[in-house]
Amino acid sequence: MNEPHDSASRVPSTADDVARAAAAAPDLAALDAVVPQCRACPRLVAWRELVGVEKRAAFRDETYWARPVPGFGDPEAQVLVVGLAPAAHGANRTGRMFTGDRSGDFLFAAMHRTGFASQATSTSRDDGLTLTDVRVTAPVRCAPPANAPTPQERRTCGPFLGRELALVRPRVVVVLGGFGWQALLTTLAEQGWAVPRPRPAFGHGVELVLAGPDGAELVLLGCFHVSQQNTFTGRLTPQMLDAVLVRARALCSSL
Ligand code: SF4
Repeated sequence: MNEPHDSASRVPSTADDVARAAAAAPDLAALDAVVPQCRACPRLVAWRELVGVEKRAAFRDETYWARPVPGFGDPEAQVLVVGLAPAAHGANRTGRMFTGDRSGDFLFAAMHRTGFASQATSTSRDDGLTLTDVRVTAPVRCAPPANAPTPQERRTCGPFLGRELALVRPRVVVVLGGFGWQALLTTLAEQGWAVPRPRPAFGHGVELVLAGPDGAELVLLGCFHVSQQNTFTGRLTPQMLDAVLVRARALCSSL
């Protein structure tokens, strides 16, 4: 699953390559196949591969994915959950968004409680987890040093998310954290979405309706990030995350 295939003939090595490859992907399977081949951001390529060689001690016997991470979940999802970028020893290790770290444990447990996920745990690409009516993705597909992609790296990666939105056509995007919120709004504006200026501020529970390039409406729903910093301190509780996911489902029914 998610392995590159022959139809994605050219490795994206520049921002123009990314834009071309994203636009040329006829469907989600093709997009998910080309994303892991990308090498357009030299700093991120070097970092993701270095992390995959140095490894964390607890994972020293594992082979890290060490490549860009495609979105994961229901191809016809009405709800998209968007973070900022893969975690170095989480998705960059396992090759699946939010899989293999504490943030993912918290997120998928909530998805399971609210009926979006088939199981409460997410440990590897072949653990049997399936998602219904939800897909998880990110504006930046490679793990960045210090969890901080540069504006140029976010811009270069933007067409992948733009194409994913066009192919999935979700009705609601749950945005995890203020950095993800800013990155997503900037990416959406660059991809032709009508984003107000000044940009609406992030907040937990904030809702923002945007019109897409084709006129379709999308609701952004802010949620504190599922990082340990938030979940260990109680800033984000399981009940709060459940409420956001339930709200996302209700919004889909009302739109
Ligand atoms: S961040 Fe995106 S554009 Fe940059 S190398 Fe990774 S997949 Fe390619």
